[in-house]
Amino acid sequence: MKNYHVAIIGGGVIGSAIARELSKYNLDVIVFEKGSDVCSGVSKANSGVIHSGINYVPTSLKARFCVEGNNMIQSLADELSVPLRWTGKFVIAKNNKEVNELKRLKNIGKQNKVPDLEIIEGSEVKEKEPNLSCVKALWVPTAGIISPYEFTIALAENAVENDVRFLLETKVIDLKKQKNLFKIKTSKGDFQAEVVVNAAGLNCRKIVSMLEEPDFQVYPCRGEYLVLDKNYSFLVSSMIYPVPVKDLGVLGVHITPTMEGNLLLGPSAEFMDDPDDKRTTKDMIDILLKEVKDILPAIPDNAVINAYSGIRCKLYPPDSGGWADFRIEESKNISGFINLLGIESPGLTAAPAIAKEVTKMISNHIDLKKKQTFKTRKKNIKRFSEKTHLEQSELIKKNDRWGRVVCRCEQVTEEEVIKALSNPLNAQTLSSVKYRCRAGMGRCQGGFCTQHIIRLMGEHLDKDIGKMRLKSPNSYLFSGRTRGEKP
Ligand SMILES: Cc1cc2nc3c(=O)[nH]c(=O)nc-3n(C[C@H](O)[C@H](O)[C@H](O)COP(=O)(O)OP(=O)(O)OC[C@H]3O[C@@H](n4cnc5c(N)ncnc54)[C@H](O)[C@@H]3O)c2cc1C
Repeated sequence: MKNYHVAIIGGGVIGSAIARELSKYNLDVIVFEKGSDVCSGVSKANSGVIHSGINYVPTSLKARFCVEGNNMIQSLADELSVPLRWTGKFVIAKNNKEVNELKRLKNIGKQNKVPDLEIIEGSEVKEKEPNLSCVKALWVPTAGIISPYEFTIALAENAVENDVRFLLETKVIDLKKQKNLFKIKTSKGDFQAEVVVNAAGLNCRKIVSMLEEPDFQVYPCRGEYLVLDKNYSFLVSSMIYPVPVKDLGVLGVHITPTMEGNLLLGPSAEFMDDPDDKRTTKDMIDILLKEVKDILPAIPDNAVINAYSGIRCKLYPPDSGGWADFRIEESKNISGFINLLGIESPGLTAAPAIAKEVTKMISNHIDLKKKQTFKTRKKNIKRFSEKTHLEQSELIKKNDRWGRVVCRCEQVTEEEVIKALSNPLNAQTLSSVKYRCRAGMGRCQGGFCTQHIIRLMGEHLDKDIGKMRLKSPNSYLFSGRTRGEKP
């Protein structure tokens, strides 16, 4: 059995960022992900905001890693060829009582060393955001947006390009420590490693309990979002936040532009018993629209094209009204067992800084030597639809697949779908295609292109139609007999 230096459980943004950071060193690293692709958990279902650090208790790990991550993310995104945008954000006060809250946030931000914060009059806000009305607002220029799935996929793919092994559809079932090695039982066989990193998100408690009695509980808290059609992106250009909802320790329903040009409304905050209950509900759609219209009345109901939800990994119960910090620590009882617990917001922003910290913790166990061959991820980030006519016709001359548009809404071509299917992780579901090239993400939500993508999956992967899946190990797209098959 091969001996890995480090085994990471979970291919979300945290596990993938750690894997990518470790891939700079001469180490054998393996990542186990139970989903059919990386970014199967909460990392794909959030606001995609690069937070500045105005919301977190000074001296907390959340504050530290948020600010450090915010400072690191531009150069990391450049190395990964992932676009991001510093849109800035307004936290708005609708009355004088809320203005005091803005002052409090500004003060926290100052303590956390968030630069250039400014409280400005409602009239000044209107110059930048004509559709918005408020008494005053806190302007936060160092807040930005990134596509959370593009970022996570890029981290993981770049780690693979630098020799990290990712095993998809591989669930960690049990852990044991024998002498100096962890024995890792998975759904695809047994492995062993010197260090285990628990980056299993909402499942972090289950992983801890495989080796010791956990001293914490997880309280899943669902956040639902609405996605607006791109036609309404003109309504705001920055992020618009209310003052935070103190009782629940969440930031409140906000309006967020996405890198793709949609607006997101949400998230709600609802504590749940079941961490897998990712339903979206008609009731919550109505509540979200009502709350957002208080801020931005110009949003029409029929602008909503989709809804999704993400589950927060909270370490405190709903009635505590409290706040819990990230826990990033090595077990006191089991040497080499590193746990990332309660990584809720701002986990996406903090991921690069958390990855550095975990690497430092690993260096207490393993002598880390930099690799000479480490490579960044060179990828043309301009989509076909963003290229000039001249650039497009040059591509079509070389390969006519560039000339066949598969997804009409997002103008995605056959060649882009094929490239998405040829990913280094070998992820092969309909969702893997969608998250890599946007086919199926437009207004019709795959109504037109799904059949064409399935045809290309069949041709490219040489796969029987009955084996094709939507997004997870058992999510088969077709069941029963297909036309032409004998009964
Ligand atoms: C509603 C909402 C909004 C948010 N907005 C923001 C934001 O705007 N900005 C920001 O910075 N942060 C935000 N966050 C926080 C951010 O999304 C999370 O902190 C981050 O995604 C956590 O990443 P993760 O890798 O820990 O978890 P996950 O992405 O959930 O990854 C864990 C992975 O582990 C895998 N796994 C679990 N158990 C096993 C097992 N036994 N074997 C193998 N694999 C396993 C899962 O399949 C999963 O893929 C938000 C979170 C929510 C819920």
